[in-house]
Amino acid sequence: MTVKQLQEDILKLKKNNDVIILAHYYQPIEIQEIADYVGDSLGLSRTAKEKATEYIIFAGVDFMAETASILNQDKHVLIPNPESCCPMAAFLTPEKVREFRKKDPRIPAVLYVNSTAAVKAESDICCTSSNAISIVKKISEEFNVNKVLFGPDANLADYAEQMSGIKCLQMPEIGHCYVHSQIKPEHINDARKEHPKAKLLVHPECIRDVRDLADFVGSTTQMYNRVKNSSSEEIEFIIGTEEGLLERMKQDFPDKKYYLAKEKLICYNMKKHNLELIKYLLENLDDKTHEVKVPSEIAKKALPPIEKMLYYS
Ligand code: SF4
Repeated sequence: MTVKQLQEDILKLKKNNDVIILAHYYQPIEIQEIADYVGDSLGLSRTAKEKATEYIIFAGVDFMAETASILNQDKHVLIPNPESCCPMAAFLTPEKVREFRKKDPRIPAVLYVNSTAAVKAESDICCTSSNAISIVKKISEEFNVNKVLFGPDANLADYAEQMSGIKCLQMPEIGHCYVHSQIKPEHINDARKEHPKAKLLVHPECIRDVRDLADFVGSTTQMYNRVKNSSSEEIEFIIGTEEGLLERMKQDFPDKKYYLAKEKLICYNMKKHNLELIKYLLENLDDKTHEVKVPSEIAKKALPPIEKMLYYS
């Protein structure tokens, strides 16, 4: 079956069911094309809360589907490939968060949404890459302190600290995303040499030495909007994030040129979904092996930090 036929089947099946398909920008472009909403973690969380239908098919990694489940305990959240998980989330366990908190219980814990539901349940507030700076500022004001615990991404913690002036204690120091942290200054220098007129946009999960070379640092949606709102003189962009975003930009703004900051910036976890699996789910909405359901006692504890983030954003 061709991609087009599969997409048509999916759109037909979707019409007959109370279902919404959410997809992250890092999804294969053919999935982005049939999604009802494509966005970054913050946008996807908001949409999951505001537009929830009986069934939510979540084309993203497991922590995103878990967040949708926490926000919609009475709905069915389905993930096309249950093996799609984020290795960054594995850097923190609830026990580790409790250990960090014991050292100074007055310090609030900020948890990047790229963490498990059980870890979020140990936090005071969640954040995404698009609101990390403002969340760190607001929660430190609320607790009347000048430092926060921040995990699991040490690079995002460093960025939030750099931009907010609030100390972000990395929880743990080694937490990182294997896609973004593989971009090094030498890759940027090579890309700049090859495309001297291009603007460099990078994700805050990149290391500081890379971020410092960028013209713009932001989440996927912020990068997307930076291109969308670019002037007619800005034609070329070097993109420092997963290649799915670049594919989306090519489609939506075809008059610009895009180059990846480094070859093969691929999140293999995000790419575990495909159209066949989505079609299967639409035909088998009650297949429990694809359902992501956060146990209610964890969901109850993880909901307030997520809601606080949405309130502050
Ligand atoms: S791009 Fe990085 S942080 Fe995002 S899901 Fe993949 S591994 Fe996790």
